Amino acid sequence: MPFSESVKQEIKYKSGFLCAVCEQLGVDVHHIVPEEVDGPNTIENGILLCPTCHDLYDANPKKRKFLRDRRDYWYSICEQRAGSVVDVLQEILTRVAPIPTLLTQLQLLTQSHQELKAVVSALTTASYNQQQNESTSASVVATPPE
Ligand SMILES: [Zn+2]
Repeated sequence: MPFSESVKQEIKYKSGFLCAVCEQLGVDVHHIVPEEVDGPNTIENGILLCPTCHDLYDANPKKRKFLRDRRDYWYSICEQRAGSVVDVLQEILTRVAPIPTLLTQLQLLTQSHQELKAVVSALTTASYNQQQNESTSASVVATPPE
C-alpha cells in the first residue's frame, strides 16, 4: 500500500516541495524503510526526493540513517524559513495598521483645507470688490461735473 495523498501532501509541504537531500525540485515521496521490508506509510517514514537522489540513496539500507538525519535537518530549515516569512508578514501588518486612521485624518485635513481656501477666496473677493467700490466712488467724486 502506498502513502495516502494526505501524507504525501504533508511531506511535500514540510520539505518545501524540494528534495530533502539536494534541495532541487522534489518529485516523489519515497519510503526510507521500503514497503517490502514492512516500512510504514507514515510521515516519519517518508522523504521527498528528486529522481537523482532517489537513485543514489533509496535502495541502499546503509543510507537510511543519513536520509532521516538529512530530512530532519532540511525540515528544520524549512520551518525557520516559514517562521521568518511569518515574522516579516507580522511586521508589515503592524506597519500598515495605522494607515486607515491616517487616511481619515488626511481626508479631514483636505476638507478643512478646502473650506479654508473657500473662506480666503470669499474674503479676497469681498476685499477686491470693496476696493473697486471705493475707487469707483472716489473717481465719481473726483470727476468734475459737466
Ligand atoms: Zn535530490
